[in-house]
Amino acid sequence: DVSDRLDTDYYGVFDDIPDADRAVWQRAKGFIDEVLPRMDALWDRAEYDVSLARRMGELDLFVDGIEHEGLGYSSPLAAGLVNMEISRGDGSLGTIVAVQGGLALRSLALFGSAAQKSRWLGPIARGDVLAAFALTEPDHGSDSVSLETEARREGDEWVLNGAKKWIGNGSSGGLTVVWARVDHEGDADHGAVRAFLVPQETPGYDGKPILGKASLRAIHQAHITLTDVRLPADAVLPGSHTFKDASTVLYATRSGVAWSALGHATACYEAALAYAQQRVQFGKPLAKFQMVQERLTQMLDELTAMQLYCRHLADLETGGVLRPTQASLAKYHNTRAARRIAAVARDLLGGNGILLENRVMQHMADIEAIHTYEGTESIQALLIGRDITGMSAFV
Ligand code: FAD
Repeated sequence: DVSDRLDTDYYGVFDDIPDADRAVWQRAKGFIDEVLPRMDALWDRAEYDVSLARRMGELDLFVDGIEHEGLGYSSPLAAGLVNMEISRGDGSLGTIVAVQGGLALRSLALFGSAAQKSRWLGPIARGDVLAAFALTEPDHGSDSVSLETEARREGDEWVLNGAKKWIGNGSSGGLTVVWARVDHEGDADHGAVRAFLVPQETPGYDGKPILGKASLRAIHQAHITLTDVRLPADAVLPGSHTFKDASTVLYATRSGVAWSALGHATACYEAALAYAQQRVQFGKPLAKFQMVQERLTQMLDELTAMQLYCRHLADLETGGVLRPTQASLAKYHNTRAARRIAAVARDLLGGNGILLENRVMQHMADIEAIHTYEGTESIQALLIGRDITGMSAFV
């Protein structure tokens, strides 16, 4: 039962979870218990086992708070708990949820036509089709607003050219939501940023996994090149018109990253506390030393703040009043705090802290990726800074 996981919840922040949300949380926990013993080897070999994504789909773990006919139950709180619980197990699995549900499914639900939704929503939610969200480019990460991938109209077709980098599921053989700039002189849409559904078997689409990653090793991110990729007229998501639409998706998923950071930090705190209680040095458990107790207290302090951020984030979202920069602040706080907690946990485990079997090093490495994606710490600070000062530091 998930209640046996609450010993890290000092303020009882998650004591009163409604039954429907608790049931989703319980499925996420059950999944982690089922697969965690396999994750070290996959991480070690940098192998992406796509059957894990299918299993999460079967368990309806990709819905990520998206309300849409035909999709299973989710809510902002349930989605957050899934992100937390899956990342508490393993960061690569957490990122699969973020990409498949948070980014790809959400883009389609927000901007797709009725026909696109009826064709793709179900298969993506079930994990039958692995889906990707391709915004970042080799030359445009933080400034993805300046993306250069081009979509040109030729008769009834769209023709896409460009390159994308860091795209989770982008080499999975599934479907990629590609964000591109319309290059069509004389068209009202000229210069607009729109999203296109690109089946990965389309000629001209080439997605290659990025090798040599020291973070999120059990999922692949792709480097994609698009060379005269020809798509039917109805490949464009009709509700997507500007870069702001891509940002709308990212606002929602930033909350998810704040929850994932909480999951990573919880796992690290648990590992450190358990180790400090059983490891004996100088004739007594580490936990009996004052300095160790203070470090554990610092970890719990930060962890509790992360929990409070997340719970309140879900309440704001449920009430329909969450502002984008509030999600930014939670992401900013939680990924920074998770980094600090992971570093202290790694240190408290001594040499054993670098062994994969103790599952702190993977969290520490995986946090580095979530700290960067969906907007880095500095970018969140600029977004928040613009909001609180009324002055933009971007340009
Ligand atoms: P850069 O933008 O080059 O930033 C480098 C550094 O400069 C950072 O510290 C940054 O904060 C700082 N910086 C940049 N601009 C400023 C400024 N104005 N002021 C101060 N500091 C600044 N993208 C997708 O589209 N789809 C995905 O599925 C996806 N998955 C990802 C998975 C992983 C593992 C990773 C690492 C990335 C993923 N991304 C994905 C891309 C991710 O969103 C970008 O990496 C991120 O936005 C940062 O861009 P960048 O890596 O180009 O860094």
